[in-house]
Amino acid sequence: MVVLKMPRSLFNMIFMVCFFLFASCKTQKEKIDFSIEKPEKVLLIYDSSDMYSSECVENARWAFKYAKVNYDELDLLDYQGKLVQDFQNYYAIVFATEFIKKLSKDDCQRIKNFVANGGGLAVIYRGYNENLSELFGVKLRDARNLFLKRGNSGLVFNANLMPMLKNTAIPDSILRDLSMFDFIHFGSKSIIATSSDKIPVVWQLRYGLGKVIYWNTSILVNKLLRGFITRSIISVSDKFVQPISNLAVIFIDDFPTAVPNVKKKLIWDEFNMTMAEYHFFIFYPDMVKLADEIGLKYTAGLTFNYGADIKPPFHLTEWRVGKVKVFDKEVEVSKSIARQFKSKNELAFHGYNHISLLVDEWKDIENMKSALRFAQKKWEEEGLGKLPITYIPPTNWIDSIGVQAIVQSFPSIKVIAGLYSGFFDVGQSREFGPEPWNRKLYCIPRVSAGFLIDDYTKLLILSEVAMLGVWTHFIHPDDVIYTPDEVENPELVRNWFYLPWRGKNGEGLYFKFKEWLKDFKKNYPYIRFMTCAEAYEEMQKFDNLMIEYEFFEDEIRIKTNQKEVFLVADIDAKYKGVELTNAVIVHSGVTDFTNFVVLKTLDNSVILKLR
Ligand SMILES: [Zn+2]
Repeated sequence: MVVLKMPRSLFNMIFMVCFFLFASCKTQKEKIDFSIEKPEKVLLIYDSSDMYSSECVENARWAFKYAKVNYDELDLLDYQGKLVQDFQNYYAIVFATEFIKKLSKDDCQRIKNFVANGGGLAVIYRGYNENLSELFGVKLRDARNLFLKRGNSGLVFNANLMPMLKNTAIPDSILRDLSMFDFIHFGSKSIIATSSDKIPVVWQLRYGLGKVIYWNTSILVNKLLRGFITRSIISVSDKFVQPISNLAVIFIDDFPTAVPNVKKKLIWDEFNMTMAEYHFFIFYPDMVKLADEIGLKYTAGLTFNYGADIKPPFHLTEWRVGKVKVFDKEVEVSKSIARQFKSKNELAFHGYNHISLLVDEWKDIENMKSALRFAQKKWEEEGLGKLPITYIPPTNWIDSIGVQAIVQSFPSIKVIAGLYSGFFDVGQSREFGPEPWNRKLYCIPRVSAGFLIDDYTKLLILSEVAMLGVWTHFIHPDDVIYTPDEVENPELVRNWFYLPWRGKNGEGLYFKFKEWLKDFKKNYPYIRFMTCAEAYEEMQKFDNLMIEYEFFEDEIRIKTNQKEVFLVADIDAKYKGVELTNAVIVHSGVTDFTNFVVLKTLDNSVILKLR
């Protein structure tokens, strides 16, 4: 393991000044001026006739957009045996096609020279060319039978391509076929990941002064793994600068909500309480405690009713049902929680009822709009504070008519918080940015869910953080009761192992989540937990951020159009320290391939001197 070492005096200066005086680090500020002569660039090589890799190419483009990577594209479609590109303009080349087999011997030699002279090469979609064999550290076992037939499932990470990744293991049941080439390995390399049968899937090696990372799989076609594209390029770059929006949003969907006075098995067994009592006496106080301990803020999705109709007369019957006794006084659970909750957190809107805003469900837009207007009126009458900014679509489904209904009848709503994955036509598979069906709304899509963070969920979270410096996650107060016994559709199961809420020895969902949060905070202490409304402000600012940087032998020069920007600077492990002008260090750490610092800039011009 590499440790980021700094000369003692420098260490004292930077760490004491920056950690101690984080908020008032003006002493470090210096009026400097320079212009970026030659902004650093990456070259993305793909082939538009290679259908299978097209999603991987698209993911690379998105990864670059989020990381604000300056890049050129090169399509091999009309390749005539000679690349015209001058590779000296780039610090890294990315291969995202199987059709690198087209590359001529001369071009392969030029690419080898590029790497040998210190360039980076990231193969993010498996491809092969015998003239690049040395660069990849592998050769095909049998040119007529490309694919590995056995041992091509599951994925186990053996190295920290990013913090927390090592020992993450995705079972064969989730990754059944990695679509791997059957290679014979030679030379020395770091194995980043293997299949369950210990066959290398991802590796990195040094070639001359440069570095190569190779993904012997097609899995980076998965949008959820985009952050791995970013990290792959970082792992082969001598220097890398990534602006991040640096935030995490934890949503509690269906809370506060119309909660009935019914008994549900797991909760009754553990607490002898109805669901209404559990919401009031257990869940809400536990979540408040967690927020205080970890430093969280929540964004909760309020729903007034569940079974209610799509046509007037609308009402709050179900909303009023949940009752508890506090010192012999009857208290309305939903309203009382909602009023308290809003003081420290964001109350978002999850529906008058839990029927998705789909025209198939509501028959026409007028029904949607009148329910939305009714909800706004009641929001005010119930004393729930300012009208909501965030809308969380019930079941994460909404269509374009539903989006129009919100824009036309619910003007306080600015954000839709749906899903990052899933199906576009029902309002899912969204990007951070304007809602494609109506640009008056902004999307903050959620990547992960649940109290139990298994290794696959962890992989998605690490990918999102690597992509944008963001984690968006949702949970439900009743996740605990959604056991396989309770729901027929396995996709709706949220508590596969029948875990209690707290448990006697910390085995409950609540403590599992708390453990994960602590671990996450230890590894990513700089990530700011905030409400979705705050994240919306930050994301807009981030969208307007422009950055250019230039690498020199032992120096990185950065220009931005904003101040107080969060940047992650990854540098080759040969650099042991960094001296900053016009930025403070918020965090520093190591991966198995780089040393890194997380910075907050103080001015538009920043210089990192590398030691
Ligand atoms: Zn819901």
